[in-house]
Amino acid sequence: MGATNGYAALQAGATLEPFTFERRPVGSNDVLIQISYCGICHSDIHQVRDEWGGSIFPMVPGHEIVGTVTKVGADVKKFREGETVGVGCFVDSCRTCPSCMRGWEQYCETGMILTYNGLDKNGRPTYGGYSSHIVVNEQYVLKIPQSLDLKGVAPLLCAGITTYSPLRQWGVGKGHRLCVLGLGGLGHMAVKFGKAFGADVTVLSQSDNKRKEAERLGATAFAATSQEGTFTRLARQFDFIIDTVSGVHDYNASLDLLKTDGTFILVGAPCEPLSIKAFQLILRRRRLVGSLIGGIRETQEMLEFCEAEGITSDVEVIPIQQVDEAYERVLRADVRFRFVIDLASLSETTR
Ligand code: NAP
Ligand code: ZN
Ligand code: ZN
Repeated sequence: MGATNGYAALQAGATLEPFTFERRPVGSNDVLIQISYCGICHSDIHQVRDEWGGSIFPMVPGHEIVGTVTKVGADVKKFREGETVGVGCFVDSCRTCPSCMRGWEQYCETGMILTYNGLDKNGRPTYGGYSSHIVVNEQYVLKIPQSLDLKGVAPLLCAGITTYSPLRQWGVGKGHRLCVLGLGGLGHMAVKFGKAFGADVTVLSQSDNKRKEAERLGATAFAATSQEGTFTRLARQFDFIIDTVSGVHDYNASLDLLKTDGTFILVGAPCEPLSIKAFQLILRRRRLVGSLIGGIRETQEMLEFCEAEGITSDVEVIPIQQVDEAYERVLRADVRFRFVIDLASLSETTR
């Protein structure tokens, strides 16, 4: 489709800078999307800094994308020009393995194709949503409900589905006490969904700074891990913990907050290995489970749930020129609660 403008990190840990690249031509099953907003996920920062290993550079991050369809391929059935759509963390998968057949494309046996920092089926690097346009096969594009504020919808495509999916999978709801560990992008969505599903939600944060916001988001209780006695006071109180923390922390202390048969849902993805004492699980038949984003079908279901419940993400909108500053603030846990890039700002530097 020709030259696309975006922002890229040219090497591991580099600041982001204007970058022009080629998108593939719009194929018969593709849609061309003009990107309006793209969220900043902590995974963008992990990958720009190559903290998980294997990062591909230049890297155009961004996998919380909303925009408008500006062109459709000849065989596209789901979308029309002018429609508002979304793209999340992956843009393709094998489509035939047992996981893909069940709608769990994120667990594709041969590996989903990431929206950025991946290789497409022709071995070309994929580039994400910190850019003006993207070309995606229609099967991997989401319909966006009209009634929701678009800026607040973008983060639903990763932070939203990553918390919605495991809370649904494990049946979190009425009569359950849920602890949300870490009140960032994922954490604040976990609070909203936990409350919407009927659970009683407690937020556990590093300091007291976010207490008021936690309550506004729907938590009934709040505690600071830095305050002495917190872990003793909350011992064996929770049916579920959802851990959204981006760095390694004391998992053994957190596990002890679970009741017998409690479930620790790990979605935070620190690069260091975790250290867990066997007896923290054995003695109370606790479960430790992981979860990765969500499939296309479930993401669409989540968007419909959000429309019905009026749920969006709480965002700070920034121009793309402020992306490095935003990364620094995310690293300081100083974001309420998701940065979203307004891609109209691209024109100021690169058009
Ligand atoms: P975020 O906005 O930075 O939120 C993380 C929060 O964790 C911070 O706001 C902070 O909350 C707390 N925190 C940070 N460092 C900490 C530390 N060293 N010890 C204790 N608490 C700490 O990040 P995010 O975008 O929500 O992503 C969170 C993690 O999930 C990242 O590792 C990301 O890569 C991962 N992720 C996983 C999936 C998946 O599919 N599993 C999908 C998306 C993202 P407080 O200020 O409240 O302490
Ligand atoms: Zn993400
Ligand atoms: Zn597959």
